[in-house]
Amino acid sequence: MVYNKKDIGILSLSRPDEYCGYFIKNTQKTTEYYITNKGYIQTKSGRKVCSLKRKYVKEFHTHPKNTLFYPSVKDLLQPLKHINNMQYSQIFGTVYNAQNKSYTVRWTLSHIKKKKKFTQNTDNLQKDLREELKKFYRLTLSKKTGLYKGYQMKKDINKNCSKLANNLSKLIRNATKENYTVNVNVWPSM
Ligand SMILES: [Zn+2]
Repeated sequence: MVYNKKDIGILSLSRPDEYCGYFIKNTQKTTEYYITNKGYIQTKSGRKVCSLKRKYVKEFHTHPKNTLFYPSVKDLLQPLKHINNMQYSQIFGTVYNAQNKSYTVRWTLSHIKKKKKFTQNTDNLQKDLREELKKFYRLTLSKKTGLYKGYQMKKDINKNCSKLANNLSKLIRNATKENYTVNVNVWPSM
């Protein structure tokens, strides 16, 4: 079954488990999503995470409602370690404004390989990324449910997420000298 980006956003909003799979651009230049797996591995926090049975050039996963709506450090580093020359990874999350209106936030991580193999130590980079995400969390979120602090409008969410996306890609690019970008799109979930 084929899904569009809105459908995947609604899965992130409405289902307690992660969904994952791959996406392609069709001839009309719209993106088609194919779900290949659903989260069944339970973490310590009780969250069921999704694992892909194989690696795709363009893959995605959802962060369910009541989990953080932005990429984890592990999510961010994953495209660098990929075996293909090119890797796109999308993460779909849900965030609420002060009126409890929900928005889908889609993060697109893209990496086009410069080095043949990525073997660099990323300890310092991981530390910096963790700091950056923590700062974002403190500035924007009132609690883990993803309720935005005082932001009413889509443009506020968009602005803050874009700033984070820029900072994250800069950190990764500076540390690795790799061709890496983070892009973000925001739309009302329903
Ligand atoms: Zn994730």
